[in-house]
Amino acid sequence: MNFKEQRDLFRTKKVSAKEAVQESIKKINGDNLNIFINSFQSEALKQAEFIDNNFDKFKDAPLSGVPIAHKDIFCTKGLPTTCGSKMLENFVPPYDSTVIHNCNEAGSVMVGKTNMDEFAMGSSNETSYFGPVSNPWNSDLVPGGSSGGAAACVAADITSISTGTDTGGSIRQPAALCGVTGLKPTYGLVSRWGMIAFCSSMDQAGPFSRDAFGCAALLDAMASYDSKDSTSTERPDKNFENLLAKDFGSLKIGVIKDIDNFGINPDVMQSYEVSKTVLSALGHELKEVDFSELSTGICSYYVIAPAECSSNLSRFDGVKYGYRASDQKDISKLYMETRSEAFGDEVKKRILIGTHVLSAGFYDAYYLQAQKVRRMIKNKFESIFKDVDLIFMPTTLDQAFEKNRESNDPNRMYKEDLLTIPANLAGLPAISFPNGFKNNLPIGGQFVGNYFSEDLLLATTNRIQEVSDWHKMTP
Ligand code: GLN
Repeated sequence: MNFKEQRDLFRTKKVSAKEAVQESIKKINGDNLNIFINSFQSEALKQAEFIDNNFDKFKDAPLSGVPIAHKDIFCTKGLPTTCGSKMLENFVPPYDSTVIHNCNEAGSVMVGKTNMDEFAMGSSNETSYFGPVSNPWNSDLVPGGSSGGAAACVAADITSISTGTDTGGSIRQPAALCGVTGLKPTYGLVSRWGMIAFCSSMDQAGPFSRDAFGCAALLDAMASYDSKDSTSTERPDKNFENLLAKDFGSLKIGVIKDIDNFGINPDVMQSYEVSKTVLSALGHELKEVDFSELSTGICSYYVIAPAECSSNLSRFDGVKYGYRASDQKDISKLYMETRSEAFGDEVKKRILIGTHVLSAGFYDAYYLQAQKVRRMIKNKFESIFKDVDLIFMPTTLDQAFEKNRESNDPNRMYKEDLLTIPANLAGLPAISFPNGFKNNLPIGGQFVGNYFSEDLLLATTNRIQEVSDWHKMTP
């Protein structure tokens, strides 16, 4: 069921919040794709009853009476928050993150926390300490990552909305691989307070749903100015759900020159070409833009993200919270053993790379250069947005791929993010939506917009979804 149908059933009192939650719980208990790390069934039923008993208060709220699953990166008061890591397997936060708080206020009911790559590092959900998630379309394949559980949860129809985070593509890439819609907002639109940090200058939370409508409503709930996050911005005075129907007229849409040189799979390219004809038929003008620098983003990202990761993850030392190695005689041994035992290989690799690129001898050669590339990409976007309203490109190079593919080529996984990372480097909003289907698997297309153009991204996607059916297909 899509989000709107689900919410309408609650608002017209045809289905209570409790009944909706019971239905989701039934599906969670039957899940064999490893989508959830924890589910909170009795708490969810209690919260649903509360919403039912206060129907008048919640009936017009953006997410009234709708079950939701949260990525296990958002702190939940009194309930485990693992971030996909052994390090936080038994961590129970004493407070709710702002995203959780906002979604509760908006009338949704959290049924559980979804599986993810450890500390959100990965593109396949295989780095999770709690085991990989399977793709609902084909369980031999990955769902994408790092928000793999969140995307699979909506694709498998367990909930109609879920939250994720996107540092280099972790909302858009799994959305593409699972055949759902996912939006990465402008950096600063959604508060990062209580969201476990990976790369703070790029981390941004956002919504998943089957369609643009569900994403708009969930973004309405999630976005707020938050004085507790120093990079939070004053929210533009926009109601994304109401603006879905706004006619933005004929747009200039940028398509990237020579994009076929980026190594995109022919099936993905074919869907992309078909979507371009749909955009033209809807009255938009396609304009070729030169963005050859796009592919340098990946090199910049895989220096900056590990650098910030090595700094952010230094707080996990076995002293304050989380895992602690047993029987340690002195403090350095305690740090060392704790981190050796509780971090997975990918996280360790990034801490090592990050520490290296920040070290006195290598800072100029790597970190500083990467920041220059980042600035160059931001400037390039700025000049492109003088000529076009949106940029359209595929979300990923490939469709969903086999588990364990990484073992043959460790860099191949990083290349998956080629088309998503540039928006994060520049802090721009971007949306991925289902725009094709081949080999029994979905394909995603992506719009990148200028700062705070979420309304335009959502409305343009919504218009495409009014004339196409890709987002209605279910595994
Ligand atoms: N795949 C990217 C990485 O591993 C992006 C992760 C993310 O967006 N959280 O860093």
